[in-house]
Amino acid sequence: MFANLSDRLTASFKQLRGKGRLSEADIDATVSEIRRALLEADVALPVVRAFAANVRERAKSAEVSAALNPGQQVIKIVNAELVEILGGEARDLRFAKNPPTVIMLAGLQGAGKTTLAGKLGRWLRDQGHTPLLVAADLQRPNAVTQLQVVGERAGVPVWAPEPGNGVGDPVGVARSGIQHAHDKQYSVVVVDTAGRLGVDAEMMQQAADIRDAVSPDEILFVLDAMIGQDAVTTANAFAEGVGFSGVVLTKLDGDARGGAALSVRGVTGKPVMFASTGEKLTDFERFHADRMASRILDMGDILTLIEQAERTFDAAQAEEMAAKISGEGDFTLQDFLGQLQQLKKMGSMKKMLGMLPGMGQMREQLENFDEREVDRVEAIVHSMTPAERVDPRILNGSRRQRIARGSGTTVTEVNSLMERFDQAKTMMRQMARSGGKGGVPGMGM
Ligand code: GDP
Repeated sequence: MFANLSDRLTASFKQLRGKGRLSEADIDATVSEIRRALLEADVALPVVRAFAANVRERAKSAEVSAALNPGQQVIKIVNAELVEILGGEARDLRFAKNPPTVIMLAGLQGAGKTTLAGKLGRWLRDQGHTPLLVAADLQRPNAVTQLQVVGERAGVPVWAPEPGNGVGDPVGVARSGIQHAHDKQYSVVVVDTAGRLGVDAEMMQQAADIRDAVSPDEILFVLDAMIGQDAVTTANAFAEGVGFSGVVLTKLDGDARGGAALSVRGVTGKPVMFASTGEKLTDFERFHADRMASRILDMGDILTLIEQAERTFDAAQAEEMAAKISGEGDFTLQDFLGQLQQLKKMGSMKKMLGMLPGMGQMREQLENFDEREVDRVEAIVHSMTPAERVDPRILNGSRRQRIARGSGTTVTEVNSLMERFDQAKTMMRQMARSGGKGGVPGMGM
């Protein structure tokens, strides 16, 4: 899911690498790339238009941060816009004051309603509710049996019409299901309804009749993320025909281009509340716009990292550091110490490293990272004289021995720090040349 979109977006950001600042032309080129990427991912045109316009406007306005380079700035803006079109903060299910809470599922045949009923039932059960599933899909042969199988697997009871009885009266089944829930004190009722392959008037009427009979607290529109551009027409038809309060996206595990996910909130104004990501009961999660955006941008939790950096380094510090680094090599151990201390202010090094994308593969090294290393480095630099900090070339054997003694470390550790300091200096010069502002080592996008 989203793999193509991710690749395209990431590629458009890479073009900004090494740029010192964003020109109008850079912004226009990047926004066109983003626009193309979204259209190719089947995102609805009005949503693409609004997205592109917002990104352009924000990139051109004065939201320029001294702590971020142009690539990072654009990523930050695109991310914020993605979160916005994906729906911002997740909304919780609304539970009725007087149980049972009634949740009705609506959507096309094959969208994944019956499967979802089981997942939702189990999820509710795990949250301490006592759910009941109601089989009001009497259209599709086997729909009732399918719900019974799913319910059994989920450990959630199912209310279904007696065989040969109530066939053809989904409204009656829904109503008696709610009555049964009242009688037996179930706290939540999930009503599965019929869908057709396409939108049709009769189906809509049936869904509307069920709605009127059970007065749902939530109507969840179940949308197959694989149906591409059709998602918008279908969503609009259901919004008009039945109305709904939230959306569930299914089949997000497929290799669909993802347009439905990105369009549905913008087109219907209703939040995406859950995501279904496979056929198993547990392939189900609350939908979080920010995590989805992060997934699309393939960036681990680098945004949190960027935000922490912004909070930690003010503009003046970033400028001063950038000047030092790009200046003729007068980046000293004193500056190095300052940077380390600022990084430390951002929080645990291990946690910060863990937020970098791709870190999943380096879990073991990460586990072995010793936070005290930073303290040792600090102690070593503190044990140096001001002259030594400015010009480490004067560090001969006896000076190194004195420093090791003073800092409670060994000469080997002092030597190793000096080596790493040289490497850091080289790396920072390279970053400065490639346009990084130097505030955050290792983040030179
Ligand atoms: P309904 O007609 O809306 O009730 O749809 P079903 O629940 O019967 O689902 C239709 C098909 O899609 C079934 O084969 C399900 O196993 C499958 N399905 C449902 N949700 C998902 C999902 O999130 N991922 C995948 N890969 N398949 C799903």
